[in-house]
Amino acid sequence: MLEEEAIGSVPTGLFIGGKWRQSARTMPVHDPSTGQILCEVADADAAEAGEALDAAAEAQPAWAATPPRERSIILTEAHRLLLEHIDRLSLIMTLEMGKTLAEARSEIAYAAEFFRWFAEEAVRIDGGYMTAPGGGSRLLLTRQPVGPSLLITPWNFPMAMGTRKLGPAIAAGCTSVIKPAAQTPLSILALADILVQAGLPDGVVNVVTTSTPDEVMTPLILDGRARKLSFTGSTKIGKHLLELCARTVMRTSMELGGNAPFLVFDDANLDDAVTGAMAAKMRNIGQSCTAANRILVHSSVVDEFTRRMTEQMAALPLGRGTEDGVVVGPLIDDAAVEKIDRLVTDAVERGATVTTGGTRLDRPGSFYPATVLTGVPEDAEMCHDEIFGPVAAISTFDTEAEAVKRANDTPYGLVAFVYTESLTRGIRVCEALESGMVGLNQGVVSNPAAPFGGVKESGLGREGGPTGIDEFLETKYIGITV
Ligand code: NAP
Repeated sequence: MLEEEAIGSVPTGLFIGGKWRQSARTMPVHDPSTGQILCEVADADAAEAGEALDAAAEAQPAWAATPPRERSIILTEAHRLLLEHIDRLSLIMTLEMGKTLAEARSEIAYAAEFFRWFAEEAVRIDGGYMTAPGGGSRLLLTRQPVGPSLLITPWNFPMAMGTRKLGPAIAAGCTSVIKPAAQTPLSILALADILVQAGLPDGVVNVVTTSTPDEVMTPLILDGRARKLSFTGSTKIGKHLLELCARTVMRTSMELGGNAPFLVFDDANLDDAVTGAMAAKMRNIGQSCTAANRILVHSSVVDEFTRRMTEQMAALPLGRGTEDGVVVGPLIDDAAVEKIDRLVTDAVERGATVTTGGTRLDRPGSFYPATVLTGVPEDAEMCHDEIFGPVAAISTFDTEAEAVKRANDTPYGLVAFVYTESLTRGIRVCEALESGMVGLNQGVVSNPAAPFGGVKESGLGREGGPTGIDEFLETKYIGITV
């Protein structure tokens, strides 16, 4: 499919109450590999966003009363349609976000899987019935949809972060207003079109694209009719939104930033550890909340590990995500390149050594080469901030206790990775790590069937997995006198 054809297939308006409509303003969507404008999409103001919440609130009672099996069938059909349109949707994602076509395809498949998973969960929402301990009363427990929900997603996984929220919301019987990131609105707009084709009733999902998120989302949060905010993005914005939500005691799910440690012990299988580190570092060109941010390697194997990782990183082809064989696409924008350049310069000034990459490229588009730094000191800025790019920061440790202490020495706690061939050490270290998820001899943990989420400043709640639907359900207890 031609690039223009793929972009031209995406509706560019606001999706409110089942209708596409233009807004008073528009905003451009750029291709980060060229800097060129791909198209213009609606740029909602607060009044237009208010109409989206009106539509969600109006549709809520009927949607909550829709049989679970019907909700499930719509999600199953949307799963099928996502896979049927995978070529077109991957191209759209690559163009607006930069990741390679192979990675975009894998994200569409991952995104679709959330719909399949929650289609299966929609018909398994259970309750309870018990006798009160003192006798007499019976306790009836039922679970009901939370109500209209606000969903805010980031640019790095433009489709999957949407389906990870929409899947459970739709399954649980919640209507929603979803706001994708301004830099990558096209994937969610294309998804809305797919949900219409799958038979989703008007008003159940409403899409608001905007360049002024604060002005547009704050009134929706304070309105009182929305009963849930599910946010994926930076810890800074997440904290701000939590404060706002406190004013109406709104339920929240917060999927925030990470600073993942990647531990390689002296008894690790080094081939596996390097393969895992490449995946944990380079998925999404390093722009992933689960990216290995600090690679801590036992001092006895660090030289060999660094040599192998350097060789593999140096061999990765860089270019536009649409080109065959490319692995390193562009970063999301020039500001991301500048941030990485600053973090690398800072680490080098503090004593780190560059073994490959490490300098900006003289070419159009927001590119930064795959880079390996070794001997990164603990006080380097990149050990405390998300690198969010293709830079592997390696440092060493000598004892297991030191590795665990350093791994936990961060306010974040999303994911950690551990490479060791010792089962007892593996279990011991996994249990000691302060993170919501751990990859034990595994470099990618994302899985729709697993509970995804963090501890500490990485967030609240879990998405996907057996408990993902709970985020959109309230438990009601009915006391019965018998
Ligand atoms: P971000 O700047 O926090 O933005 C995330 C979303 O929030 C975007 O849609 C953004 O809109 C919106 N937003 C910004 N300010 C807002 C406000 N005042 N009110 C309401 N909405 C607002 O994060 P990002 O740079 O897009 O994404 C990268 C971050 O997401 C990283 O920290 C990464 O670790 C995290 N992340 C976490 C997970 C997870 O599951 N834990 C997954 C993926 C990413 P605009 O686009 O208009 O700014």
